[in-house]
Amino acid sequence: MFAALALTISLAVASRPHIVPKPIPYGPTRKAEMAAYAKKHYGIHSWRLHPRVIVEHYTGNNSFSSAWNTFAANTPDPELGELPGTCAHFIVDRNGRIYQLVRTDIMCRHTVGLNYVAIGIEHVGTSDAEVLRDRAQMRSSLALSAWLVERFHIRIRNVIGHSESLSSPYHRERYKPWAHQTHADWKHRDMMLYRGKLRVLLRAGA
Ligand SMILES: [Zn+2]
Repeated sequence: MFAALALTISLAVASRPHIVPKPIPYGPTRKAEMAAYAKKHYGIHSWRLHPRVIVEHYTGNNSFSSAWNTFAANTPDPELGELPGTCAHFIVDRNGRIYQLVRTDIMCRHTVGLNYVAIGIEHVGTSDAEVLRDRAQMRSSLALSAWLVERFHIRIRNVIGHSESLSSPYHRERYKPWAHQTHADWKHRDMMLYRGKLRVLLRAGA
């Protein structure tokens, strides 16, 4: 009786957290730029995303609006100088508010080597530790990741930090100078912690 009940609970679906729509402009020009980028870097002439991976990031500052403005601007990124501009599908703010910027069936440029397959989640903050100790932000982040994991049947091992991008089995980069490019946000040890919390949440039936 109790075992059956436990099984039922463990199969419960993670509920959709409250998400505030805050779309960035993503019209035909940006879509065409994304498709050209995907062709050059992945050999896929499409802007359509079929998510298999979630990549966690932090913005590097404490302002939601500056992150949103950067992603909305669609100017060549200062580091690599390509179009479309960088973006992320979601931003989790310090107060735990979740904003959605881009639909999950459209590619965003947030992680070299994985944009063809990955949803990007940004966290307003300047370090893994800062986000990890922010209870409101972490609660929302985990709820969002859990919901996406179930919705797209993503394996928890494929919820990764940006710094783990090169070791993802999905990593693909046809443009050789970028083949080893990654960033330092969300280090492996911090993502071990994050995935552990996510596993607990999903096991509990969120
Ligand atoms: Zn990042």
